[in-house]
Amino acid sequence: MRNLLMRSPIAIAAAWIGVYLLTVLSPLLVLLLHPAPPGRGFWLEFSVALGFIGLAMMVLQFALTARIRTIEAAYGIDIILQFHRYTSIVAFLLILVHPIILFVNDPETLQLLNFFEAPWRARAAVIATLALTLLIVTAIWREKLHIPYEPWRIWHGIFAVTAVGLGLAHAFGVGNYLSLFWKGVLWVLFGAIALWLLVFVRLVKPWQMTQHPYLVEEVVPERGDVWTLVLRPRGHGGLSFQSGQFAWLTLSISPFRMREHPFSMASSAEKLECLEFGIKSVGDFTSRIKDVEPGTLAYLDGPYGVFTIDRYWDSAGFVMIAGGIGITPMMSMLRTAGDRKDDRPFLLIYASRSWEDITYREDLETLKDKLDLTIIHVLRKAPEDWQGETGYVNQDLLKRYIPVHRGSRHYFICAAPKMMDQVERALHNLNVPVDHVHMEHYNLV
Ligand SMILES: Cc1cc2nc3c(=O)[nH]c(=O)nc-3n(C[C@H](O)[C@H](O)[C@H](O)COP(=O)(O)OP(=O)(O)OC[C@H]3O[C@@H](n4cnc5c(N)ncnc54)[C@H](O)[C@@H]3O)c2cc1C
Repeated sequence: MRNLLMRSPIAIAAAWIGVYLLTVLSPLLVLLLHPAPPGRGFWLEFSVALGFIGLAMMVLQFALTARIRTIEAAYGIDIILQFHRYTSIVAFLLILVHPIILFVNDPETLQLLNFFEAPWRARAAVIATLALTLLIVTAIWREKLHIPYEPWRIWHGIFAVTAVGLGLAHAFGVGNYLSLFWKGVLWVLFGAIALWLLVFVRLVKPWQMTQHPYLVEEVVPERGDVWTLVLRPRGHGGLSFQSGQFAWLTLSISPFRMREHPFSMASSAEKLECLEFGIKSVGDFTSRIKDVEPGTLAYLDGPYGVFTIDRYWDSAGFVMIAGGIGITPMMSMLRTAGDRKDDRPFLLIYASRSWEDITYREDLETLKDKLDLTIIHVLRKAPEDWQGETGYVNQDLLKRYIPVHRGSRHYFICAAPKMMDQVERALHNLNVPVDHVHMEHYNLV
């Protein structure tokens, strides 16, 4: 039984949800165990309870984004970040409702908003709520507000630490609830968890990365404005990963500066002595890859992700649907399958702009010698003599190629967000079981 629990991803995922709920609700449990001070009405108690749950949820946001491998391995980054987004909004609403109930219940408490005359604990609450508001607004509307990713990420961290730090200070300052021993212990524990996660992310993890450096071996130009960055481990055995996973890459600067970018491994999981990443030039960091000199130091944090065929050893075969640079995890899976002499059928539906832009076109052809691999290229701008598929990967096109027994395969999608949504919907309409569809989003925020 223990073995089953250890191995089953569903059991592990359910266990983490249990831990989350228990942690978030623990302030309430402690409140229930210890009676509130006499003379305090329901609304006051209710408002305080909401504030405590909201704050506990905010502390746990640090755990969700700390890239803790066991949590990541249970859900994958997409689901964790989605959860992070939604729970932040719920926590924000709970924290907002907390003072609103107080003000409605006892209008005299509105004086606490008088920033200069209010006690410090009320001022801490006001600044924490402002920081939280800015955090939520800039996270939801980052692109609309034209905030570039790097500065946004720095400010996201500053707002989060301010909101949680001052939120905890406010809770301790009010004191009513925390003066009782177990309530105090619980919140000291929350404070310690938040602090530890901060130290873990900012110091421990970067230090671990410095212990396993890589050197750039070469940078190879590919079709479609993509460069293959080849890394060789320096003084260690390399990164053991499942095909299709990704790692956070820091190039030529110290990992303590926290300027890492996520990239899927494109090479075979069977070849640890040399790691390859296919990187498309889209912005500041990626457009500089082509100029990286051999011998440059690199650091990796990984592997992460659940976008891998390695988890589905009992699948009769695989369907991969890639758009543009979404081909990189598929390359890793196909190359690994080739090295492992996997004899199951692979179908790759691959959308590119034009024939000349098809990244890894020749490498894919070579893989056909090693694998039962069918490739359907879909071109948006096809040459005149093109006999193949054109336009977009839609339901009709998928229906022509995917097997009749839809549930016999697992389906992997990695492409631009719009294409991923369309393909996901089409597969759903074609009765592909929902738990057979796996997606990797390249735009985290
Ligand atoms: C799981 C995953 C795997 C990926 N694999 C690949 C791959 O194999 N090949 C590839 O070319 N691209 C991959 N990407 C996308 C790649 O990370 C971004 O294109 C790159 O970080 C852009 O950085 P930039 O400074 O050049 O561009 P910018 O113009 O700064 O950013 C473009 C967009 O990329 C995202 N981004 C930028 N910086 C970061 C960062 N530090 N962390 C997270 N997201 C960021 C943001 O959504 C931003 O809007 C992957 C992304 C994810 C999430």
